[in-house]
Amino acid sequence: MPSLRILQISAECAPFAKTGGLADVSAALSRYLAGAGHDVRLVLPLYQRVKQKAKLRPVEGLQDLKVRLGGREQWFSIWQADAPRSKAPVWFVRAPQYFERESLYTEDADEGQRFALLTHAALLSCQHTGWAPHVVHAHDWHAALAPLLLRTHYAWDRLFKDARSLLSIHNLGYQGWFPATAIDELGLGDERHLLHQDHLQEGRVGFLVTGLLWADMLSTVSATYAKEIQTDEHGVGLQGILRSRADRLKGIVNGIDSDEWDPSSDPRIPHHYALGELDGKRRMKAALLERVGLPPTTTAPVFGIVSRLTMQKGFELVHDAISVLLRREDMRLVVLGSGEERYERFFGWLAQTFPGKVAYLQSYDEELSHWIEAGSDVFLMPSRYEPCGLNQMYSQRAGTVPLVRRTGGLADTVQDWDPAARTGTGFVFERFDAQSFHSALERVFATWRDQDSWRRLQAQGMALDWSWETRIDEYIELYRSLHALRR
Ligand code: ADP
Repeated sequence: MPSLRILQISAECAPFAKTGGLADVSAALSRYLAGAGHDVRLVLPLYQRVKQKAKLRPVEGLQDLKVRLGGREQWFSIWQADAPRSKAPVWFVRAPQYFERESLYTEDADEGQRFALLTHAALLSCQHTGWAPHVVHAHDWHAALAPLLLRTHYAWDRLFKDARSLLSIHNLGYQGWFPATAIDELGLGDERHLLHQDHLQEGRVGFLVTGLLWADMLSTVSATYAKEIQTDEHGVGLQGILRSRADRLKGIVNGIDSDEWDPSSDPRIPHHYALGELDGKRRMKAALLERVGLPPTTTAPVFGIVSRLTMQKGFELVHDAISVLLRREDMRLVVLGSGEERYERFFGWLAQTFPGKVAYLQSYDEELSHWIEAGSDVFLMPSRYEPCGLNQMYSQRAGTVPLVRRTGGLADTVQDWDPAARTGTGFVFERFDAQSFHSALERVFATWRDQDSWRRLQAQGMALDWSWETRIDEYIELYRSLHALRR
């Protein structure tokens, strides 16, 4: 089969710019697609923090380019860096006026222009290098203008005549809405009649919704989430449009980077282990407790959390259910995460109230996240919704039993422990309420007391293969079916 030329447009890519799973996915996709022999380019913004850290070089022929946005010509250049272990180049859009700010995302008035520029820059870089993509793969709202622009602004160019677009939804909660009065500044003046007219009448224009309307194909990061987002409960206002495009919407569960997340070789942890030789895991548990300042234990379970602290992640349930257990049980809880102040305060309060049992680290710390995955016994993800979720897969690989709510990718990747049949890889609860979460925690303690069952549960999770190697063919198949599509 001939190889494909695939353009990826994303706001994040690990290890350069990451706030969540999108960064892991765009990096892994590019790396594994290139590894499978495809010609892949990934384009993302040259943020301030990338400029400070990465080794960059200018790409010849792609300097001093311009596009009209914000009522004037915006100049940009393309710079390149090598991604670890990947053959695919990562191209950064250097436009200091837009991207050199404190954080990746802002609430500044020109936020929409910033990501409109990213998309134009990605497509213009194809034109200036005569590189004709078969697939333009846009990730999330930041890149979601690409499908429309391919049909309008860039349609004159025969370079794109075979290009088909795929929009991947990593999280429907982020939709990129801007005031309709900003249409000209966003460079969408000529496309006005192709935007969602009801929204325009309401005085707004949405990037994600525009992509949902115009992409040749849509995908999201798990089969269950693909169904959920078509419902009133999880559709975040876009369920009608998603239902109308259901025949073009596919769910593919994310893989994990098995070089980064393998407890037998992970360079970020000091003790290694594998299925059948769990001594290193016991040492990781001791090392983790010491590192976060909690007293050692070999008998009490250690619970871990690594997360953005947002409403999505369901920590209200921890708030309502955990104090009773912390009072009653010998246990430890290690929490790593930052985000909304109310959750940060709650975990801070919990650590103060239960010293010696709870440690809260209010930061983003790549290395510590690996320690928590390896050193915990149980990993908590009581998410309200979860498009895919990566940590439950890292956990199973690490012999750390996940406790999750049955939603999105969590439902697709964790099988509930059945003590009679002795099947399952974690604990799964159904309803989003404190009572259900509490019952699941009680099941954890009951199983923990029967160490023979625990070892079996742990081993069943560790035996699963979540690697991208097993997943990448699904994307390649999707790209091929897309490429064969007639418009
Ligand atoms: P989301 O994209 O909604 O944040 P995912 O589970 O898909 O959730 O991906 C989250 C990724 O970000 C994981 O790799 C997780 O380990 C990482 N992560 C989240 N918070 C932190 C943190 N405070 N420190 C280190 N890594 C974090």
